[in-house]
Amino acid sequence: MESDSNNFIVFGKPVLTEQEIEAVSSTLRSGWIGTGPKTKEFESAFAKYQGAEQAIAVSSCTAALFVALKAYGIGPGDEVITTAMTFAATLNAIIQAGAKPVIVDVEAGHFTIDAKKAAAAVTSRTKAIIPVHFAGAPADIDALLALREKHGLKIIHDCAHAIETQWKGSRIGAIADASCYSFYSTKNITTIEGGAICSSDASFMERARLYSYQGMTKNAWKRFSASGYQHYDIVSPGFKLNFTDVQATVGLSQLATIDAKYARRSEVWNRYQEAFAGLPVTTPNEDSSEQLHARHLYTLLVDEKRAGLDRDSFLLEMHSRGIGCGVHYRSIPQLSYFAEQFGWTPKLFPNAYQVSETTLSIPLTPYLTDTEAGRIIDAVTEICRAATSRKRKTA
Ligand SMILES: *Cc1c(COP(=O)(O)O)cnc(C)c1O
Repeated sequence: MESDSNNFIVFGKPVLTEQEIEAVSSTLRSGWIGTGPKTKEFESAFAKYQGAEQAIAVSSCTAALFVALKAYGIGPGDEVITTAMTFAATLNAIIQAGAKPVIVDVEAGHFTIDAKKAAAAVTSRTKAIIPVHFAGAPADIDALLALREKHGLKIIHDCAHAIETQWKGSRIGAIADASCYSFYSTKNITTIEGGAICSSDASFMERARLYSYQGMTKNAWKRFSASGYQHYDIVSPGFKLNFTDVQATVGLSQLATIDAKYARRSEVWNRYQEAFAGLPVTTPNEDSSEQLHARHLYTLLVDEKRAGLDRDSFLLEMHSRGIGCGVHYRSIPQLSYFAEQFGWTPKLFPNAYQVSETTLSIPLTPYLTDTEAGRIIDAVTEICRAATSRKRKTA
């Protein structure tokens, strides 16, 4: 894929193949574009990929997290523990479910929840922990599962970055109690917007399915079947957070090439790791035998004391060289609503704050050409060298 005409490398640029565009056209012409047979097919394929008994496709990962909380009966009076380093979606899902969010810090120098701090935050009101497998690296799942056993909690995994992530040989979708995925346009596979819940807990999934579609017992496309017309019933309150067959058509095609996309991102990732090893910035950890990183975000930590320039200056330098970068994310206590509502300050979550102030994500999509990856490597290297020589001169 060629870069844009002005040569700017857009961060997280989605690219849909001609085959995907064709497939969407044929679904659009098929006479069934809402939730229907393609959605079912996508759900089965995604559950199989994760190693889960079932998947439910919904409108977003935010919706998936919200539905999972509702289907586990978590709401007013309950507490849900999550991490200070995540996207607002994780917090909003907890708040909209009516529960009280409790955030804990990440491990020093890492992006994932400190399980010891999560353990210390458990109270008699705690009903669930939502770990975020950040950038694609799994949190300490064994420690969280130990808390699940000890306190009878649910673990609802925020897998927005972690479609391909593995922990001890299984994908997160195969691990209790539920996992929530995003197919937003910048994520590892996309359906434009979309999400899914995976679980092997059948009664939970039945409640989740009802909740995601009006509490209705029969989906519309099943009502008009060969066996005649069936009247629907409403058996619980619900919402409308369903997926469409147009999204499923894109998703099926994206899922079919997920391994190839991962392999291409890994190639670029390995080039970055090799090229940046000697630079005064912190690169991501390598995989261990226990875990496989989904290669969603390639993050650098730019500490001014070490690198000679701060992260925001680094971002501007990258931008001026025609390379779009991202900051994932500003820590939750730095966002005014959460700070004001819950009294959280960055000082209370120093590790998340440190990561938030120094992190920068450089492009890592399967559509980067070798030339573009080379340009990104040169830019990072040049920025570091220039900052180092300025630092020497002023020292
Ligand atoms: C993107 C993201 C979400 C939300 O996904 P949507 O599908 O856009 O709702 C949730 N959590 C994290 C960590 C994310 O990065």
